[in-house]
Amino acid sequence: MNIGFIGLGIMGYPMAKNLISAGYTLHIFDLVSERVEQLATLGAVAEINAEAVAKQSDVIITMLPNSSHVQEVMLGDHGVLKGTHPGSIVIDMSSIAPEVSKQVYQACEAKQVEMLEAPVSGGEPKAIDGTLSIMVGGKQDVFEQVKDSILLKMGASAVYCGGPGAGNTTKLANQIIVACNIAACAEAFHLAKQADVDCNLVFQAIRGGLAGSTVMDAKVPMMLNHQFDPGFRIELHIKDLNNAIETAHTVGSPVPLSAQVMEMFQVLKQKGQAAKDHSALMEYYELLGD
Ligand code: NAD
Repeated sequence: MNIGFIGLGIMGYPMAKNLISAGYTLHIFDLVSERVEQLATLGAVAEINAEAVAKQSDVIITMLPNSSHVQEVMLGDHGVLKGTHPGSIVIDMSSIAPEVSKQVYQACEAKQVEMLEAPVSGGEPKAIDGTLSIMVGGKQDVFEQVKDSILLKMGASAVYCGGPGAGNTTKLANQIIVACNIAACAEAFHLAKQADVDCNLVFQAIRGGLAGSTVMDAKVPMMLNHQFDPGFRIELHIKDLNNAIETAHTVGSPVPLSAQVMEMFQVLKQKGQAAKDHSALMEYYELLGD
């Protein structure tokens, strides 16, 4: 089976690499040619655009920044749907607005192409290890077809969440929890620092208790070392929180905490920090209170 992979960034590159390690022939495309050339040295076949990728592939995976990129790559000139054949399966693993997932699903259906959305959680380290958590929307029988053979080559878990849009709604829930957790960690550790308590000892004391979390373990060391190379960029978390707020307004569910953390990220964006890891939320508190 040939697999197409479009979007070879921080996440897509290691995910594609894991599929090559699993024995698949990959047909690949990204706007950044260095990324394509680098993966081609591992045996992947470079293609000139998304249409060419789809022509050569039975399953086409996309890992792109946001809704507009997915729309362009799927539906645009020389896009995926120009190259697919009936029976192709498209798996969009980007984190995008659930409404756009539904729109792309319908466009695929009109061309007798199956589509799943399968956003992920776990960040770059788990993309490298192949231990991502994958949350899937679409048809359950299509999910079962690709679960073990493809998804679990990139992830430690793949859970079917429901019909079109359900995977990305699940991802929004994930991103709300991560954002609020990071904000709480930044606030708490800034307080400890201002009170002249050793933050490393605070971390050791509380990480095994009720406040401990995967977010705390991954992000607090970055905050304490002031090491904010991404990882997950602030601009991408702003994108997710915008999608969460928009979706929340559509379905009538209040998200005041998401709105608050979004504004905190916006302050850092205004200060030119949007490309830093989201753990740089610590700098919001430092701006206010050092
Ligand atoms: P990234 O910006 O590093 O990578 C995106 C890639 O898509 C880039 O290489 C870019 O050149 C490519 N691209 C953009 N437009 C394109 C087009 N029209 N045609 C071909 N290629 C195109 O982003 P990332 O960090 O890999 O994130 C990708 C998705 O995964 C996002 O939706 C993000 O929210 C989600 N995500 C990221 C993380 C993380 O920790 N970085 C974790 C979980 C989920």
